[in-house]
This record gives sequence, C-alpha cells and structure tokens, in this order.
Amino acid sequence: MKISIRTTNRPLLVSILLISSIWVASCEVKFIPDIDPLLLPTAPPSDFGELDAVEADAQPLEVEATPISPLDPGFDPEDPQMWIDAIESRWPLVDVVTCELIEMAKDCKPWTARELGLLYDTLEEYILSEYIDREILFIRSDSSKYSGLSEPWSDNYGNPYGRIYIADQAWISPPAAALYDIFDVLFKKPERFKGTIAHELTHAAVWFHPELLEWWLAAKEAQGIDWGTRNWRLGLLYAWGYYDELRDDPELYQTSVEGELFAMAVSALMYDPTWGKSIE
Ligand SMILES: [Zn+2]
Repeated sequence: MKISIRTTNRPLLVSILLISSIWVASCEVKFIPDIDPLLLPTAPPSDFGELDAVEADAQPLEVEATPISPLDPGFDPEDPQMWIDAIESRWPLVDVVTCELIEMAKDCKPWTARELGLLYDTLEEYILSEYIDREILFIRSDSSKYSGLSEPWSDNYGNPYGRIYIADQAWISPPAAALYDIFDVLFKKPERFKGTIAHELTHAAVWFHPELLEWWLAAKEAQGIDWGTRNWRLGLLYAWGYYDELRDDPELYQTSVEGELFAMAVSALMYDPTWGKSIE
C-alpha cells in the first residue's frame, strides 16, 4: 500500500502559490535561519560505510505488510527505539540514525521519543511524499549553526540519496520566515519541528526530482509572481547571505534561492497556522 496523503502534481504547486499570495494574519516567534548546503550536482561518496546502501529499485515511501504502529498494543510512546522501529518498518527507505556503533554521523546526537513521534507524523503528513522515492537518512544533530540541513548525495553508482540533519533550532524556526514571525517569542513548538523536517524533505524531493523546481518556476511565472528573497510573506527573515558565494554563478544562485523559497512554501502550507488565512 502506498501512502499518498494527497495527489501531488502541478495543480498542487499552483495551489501552493495561490495560497501563498493571499495576505496572512500574524503572530509567532523569533526566527533562527537554517542553512542548506550548496546544491552540488554530485556529492562525494560517503564515509559512513553501511549508511551508504541505496536501494537500486527505489520506490516511493511504501508501507510494508505489517509495519509497527504507534497504535499497536504495547507500543510505548516514551521508548525511542519503538518509534524508530515504527518509522523504519512503515517507510523502508527511511533510516533513522541512532548515533550508536555503526550508525554514526557528524554532529550526531540521540533523538528523543517525542521528536521521533513528530518525525513519524511529518512523514505521514508530507504532501510531496510520492517524490521521496530514494533512501533518506535522518540524523539528529547537535549543531548550533542551523535548524535543518539537507545534503544531496549520490552513491558510487550515481543513485541519489539524502541526508537530513535536524538540530535544536528546528523547534523554534518558523516555516515561512515571514515578516509576522518577527513578533514571535521564543517558544518551542512541535509545528516548527515538523515544519523544519518538511522543509528539508522538500530539498530532498527536489534532489530526487528536479522537475519539481521547474514546475514551481513555471507556476510562478504563469501567475506573474516574482517575490525575490525579501518578500514579507516568505523568506524575509531567511539568512540569504549563505548563498552569497554563489552569486558569481547566476543560474546556480537562482536555482538555490528558488529551491529555498519552494521548501519554505511547502513547509508553511503544512505547518504555519497563519499561512493562507485572509484577514478579511
Ligand atoms: Zn532550506
């Protein structure tokens, strides 16, 4: 059985744009930006041994015959390992890195049970899930430099896969990085943690399916939208300086910026309660 929360295609992308072009009401917390890696055509081979295995015949997020469910009798929501088993049995392409033994990665720290529950929820709710058809590693990071980080990798055979790092700041980073987020106070919110995961999942979806970004650009152009990087609705507070070093390559810079706006729009559509709400 395939999980498909919503059929995702060009109409969805257009609807994301339409919703985002409506005035939104305000209120939320201070923004701490996330960092994304440069969009390298091909990242170097991994040095994490077993973590490199990528399924050659990758399929979209699929459900195994009998995945472990949080609703199962005896499921302990306070037990991180039970959540990991639930996630990895339900989504075989997802590997939750535990930081133990062979499952080690840079800046790795253990996931809490609550965070894993939010990861489970986000994977279940993700609106572009059919584009997550390659392996993804989820690493809980202790880095203070970003809220989330999505690394585009390829294995030795050229198969793309992703590494997503989720750091503490994921709890406080608002999805849209909009003007109204300035008025937020620094509260941790589960919606923000989930929003950061959805944001980074969207970078991975674009890595696996670059056509998503082409559709996004075509939809924007069709609607005559040119927000740039300082639009008050989306991305105003994002630390765009991270991409300054790409300015010498206008095409790569543009691709990177649009990928960022797209990831924010998807995340905001899913987890910003003010997104798309008219004040009228
Ligand atoms: Zn990003």
